[in-house]
Parts: sequence; C-alpha cells; structure tokens
Amino acid sequence: MTAPILVTGGCGFIGSAYIRRALRSARRPVVNVDKLGYAANPEALEDARTDPLYAFHKADIGERGAMRDILARHKPAAIVNFAAETHVDRSIDGPLAFVETNVGATARLLVETLDYWRGLDAAAQAAFRFHHVSTDEVFGALGPDDPPFTEATPYAPNSPYAASKAASDHLVRAWHATYGLPTLVTNCSNNYGPWQFPEKLIPLMIAKAAAGEALPVYGDGRQVRDWLHVDDHAHGLALALERGRPGEVYAFGGDAEVANIDVVRAICARVDAKLGPRAEGPRTDLIAHVADRPGHDRRYASDAAKAQRALGWRPAHAFATGLDATVDWYLAAGDWLARIKAERYALGRLGAG
Ligand code: NAD
Repeated sequence: MTAPILVTGGCGFIGSAYIRRALRSARRPVVNVDKLGYAANPEALEDARTDPLYAFHKADIGERGAMRDILARHKPAAIVNFAAETHVDRSIDGPLAFVETNVGATARLLVETLDYWRGLDAAAQAAFRFHHVSTDEVFGALGPDDPPFTEATPYAPNSPYAASKAASDHLVRAWHATYGLPTLVTNCSNNYGPWQFPEKLIPLMIAKAAAGEALPVYGDGRQVRDWLHVDDHAHGLALALERGRPGEVYAFGGDAEVANIDVVRAICARVDAKLGPRAEGPRTDLIAHVADRPGHDRRYASDAAKAQRALGWRPAHAFATGLDATVDWYLAAGDWLARIKAERYALGRLGAG
C-alpha cells in the first residue's frame, strides 16, 4: 500500500478540508494526529471514519514518545503540520499556550521527524517532505498602498499568535538548512468556508446575525484581509506537497482584499435574504463598533504569483459567491453551531485573523 500522509491538526478547519480532499480526489492514505483541543471538529471527518484509507490518533504533536510510535507504525511519506493554536484574541489573553504548541511542540515534532527521516532509505529520504502550514500574519501589517506580501517579505509579526508561527517557520527553515530535512513552508492569507470554529470573524458573525444578536466589530472595521476559500487553500497545499521543492516557501492568497466591516455587511445581506429581514430592520443595524484589538494589523494581502507559476495553482472560488455559499452552509449547520455554543464556547469573542 502507498505510504500515507501524516496530517497533524487534521480535525481543525483547514486540516479537515485537506483530509477530505486527499481521500476524495487523490485516494491517498491519511493518518490524522490531533489532540482534539477546543477547536477540533471530528464531525468534519464523519465520512472519513469508515474509509479504510483513514486512520486517526488522538495525540499531541509535542509528545515525543507518542509521535515516535506513530511514525514507526505508519511510516509516512510526508508530514503536513497544521496543528497549532490559531486564534489571535486567545493569544493576547494567554500567549504561553501559543509558545508551547506553535514553538515548543513543533520543535519536538521536528526532532522526532528528523530521527524518523534519518532511518529511511535514500529513495524514501529524497521523496519525504515535512510541510509546515503557516500564515501571512508572520509578515506583520501592510500600509494601504504597500504591495502584497511575497515569500521575500521580512518577518515582522505583531501578535503573540503571529510571533509563535514566525518562530515555527524559522525552526522548519533551520531543520532544512542544518540537517537537510526536506521541508516546505506555505504562508496563506485568511481562510473562510465550512467547519471553521465559530470564534473567527465569518462564522461568528453569521451565527450572531442569524440569532439577531449584536455584531461586535473591532474599531472602525476598516482592517483589510485577503480571503481565500479553504478548499482553494487545501488544493494549493496538495500541489505544494506534490510539486514543491524542498527548502522552498510558497505564499497563497485569494486576491480578494476586503475590509472587515464590508465582510460583516455582506453577511448581514445574505442572512437577511435567506431568513427574511428582522421586524426591527436589516441586520446591519446590529453592527456595534467596539474598542479595537491591541496591536491590530491594519492590512494583510499575499501575492501568490510564485505558487501560481511554480505549482500551477489557481483559486477556483470568487469571494462574493464563496461567502454566500459559506453563509448558507452555516445557516444549514444551525444544530452544530448550537451544540458548540452550548457545550464548548460562549460565542462572545470577536474573531478575524
Ligand atoms: P484550527 O484552530 O481550526 O485547528 C487546529 C487543530 O489543531 C485543532 O483540531 C486542534 O485540536 C489541533 N491541535 C492544536 N494543538 C495541537 C497539538 N499540540 N497536537 C495535536 N493537535 C493539535 O486551525 P486552522 O484554522 O485549521 O489552522 C490550521 C493551520 O493553518 C494553523 O497552523 C494556522 O496557523 C494555519 N493557517 C490558518 C489560517 C486561517 O485563516 N485559519 C490561515 C493561514 C494559515
């Protein structure tokens, strides 16, 4: 049987989209390692559960013994590392959890990966990849007229989340430069689509708009993000693994820069259209500006020209239609949202990346 891809954090928003794609389109065996933290959604992999090509281990990527056993047992051809703490607001409230997972646990995973890789034969070593999935937030903030980030943009992270991801990118780079581990790093702009934990901007606003609750928007809401559909990101990641060159970095972006306030307005319009307007007026009336997030980056945007050229990647979803479909998906997933709200999380945070 073909050696599997080991995916870490595969029960999260992007990892689960990646696994669904790998099982559906490539029919590649996948081993998913996830510690099932608060943002994990095993429901997003319901169909995978009975697929003979899919295996799951509940483990922390920082547990060296557990990872050593999993690597020895499954002998993966590649590791795609999604596992991370990912919410900027949580990183402001509790930065050490981000340093622990995104830096410490990633470093321990790299140590175990290197040991495993050194034990492979020459052909398997050459074919192996450690693919680290990262964010464009490592590059800091852009001014209104700056060109978008590229792979050559110097790192200037502003939030504890971004700093911890930047540190992990540097570790991965060093494991390539120092030990020769065949690595890939991809830095992507904000993702949207199904199964995102509803503390992030888009699902949070959909849930609140549907419930007729206030829609808290940071500051003036003019912070600009470049949005990419999660399935387009998953496609780009699959191409990077297949065609990317060891030691290289690839940026992914949606070429869809939108201010947060305009995202929220578009969500309100779609929810009004689907559920009918509220008696009190349109849902845009629910928008409530609140004090800005400390250190809030004003603008992110990524130039994906290298990924387009070198990997042959093109996003398939336009933001406007992709957002409408995403709103429809969350409205239809009301039970899932309600369960998360009841069981795991009071939907009070403000979201955005
Ligand atoms: P998520 O928060 O939805 O999921 C993270 C998953 O990782 C969860 O299932 C969690 O249980 C798991 N996890 C966390 N720590 C772990 C550990 N120590 N061991 C094992 N599993 C662990 O995150 P996401 O939005 O899917 O993001 C995935 C990756 O993509 C992250 O590395 C993130 O930095 C990066 N990224 C995200 C975006 C975005 O817009 N969401 C954009 C660019 C890059």
